Amino acid sequence: MRDAGVALLAIPGFRGEESGMPVTVNIRKLEGAPISLEGEIPLEELEFVSNDEMVACSQPMRYGLEAELLDDAILVRGEILLPLDCECVRCLQSFQDEVRLADFAVHLPLEGEDAVPIKNDCVDLTPFLREDTFLRLPQHPLCRPDCDKLPELKTGRVSPAGAKSASNGAAAWNELDKLKLD
Ligand SMILES: [Zn+2]
Repeated sequence: MRDAGVALLAIPGFRGEESGMPVTVNIRKLEGAPISLEGEIPLEELEFVSNDEMVACSQPMRYGLEAELLDDAILVRGEILLPLDCECVRCLQSFQDEVRLADFAVHLPLEGEDAVPIKNDCVDLTPFLREDTFLRLPQHPLCRPDCDKLPELKTGRVSPAGAKSASNGAAAWNELDKLKLD
């Protein structure tokens, strides 16, 4: 993680001053013309959530968006990429995967009950980027679509992994039981 700054600078066209900033769009600036937003959401701000222990994240989310002001809403469209560290549910091998939203689009009303929060003329897009991406995380990651390899017993990874998930499951049920008793 210490090298994240170096990685950011290595991306062609990346504007360093946007590094670490939340993804916001200024409505006043939008009044003139559409705005292009490009950059990364660092891991610390991403608050990655996965229900699957086979899916983890160790890299920032990248985005390239265009925001446009409509009559009473903002339209944001573009592309989002989130690299993932996955473990194959069949052979238990680690592999790289990603969620790529090539046609990300969100319509943000500025008025009415569903109006998006505005702070200092700015709308924070981060929650919408997170939501759409996390919804598309792989459910049962496979290193390749036809993986039918059994885990290699000699590595000894099978039983620890199995035991781990079993104990996690038991712990979760214990927590649920506690909640019920309270
Ligand atoms: Zn596999």
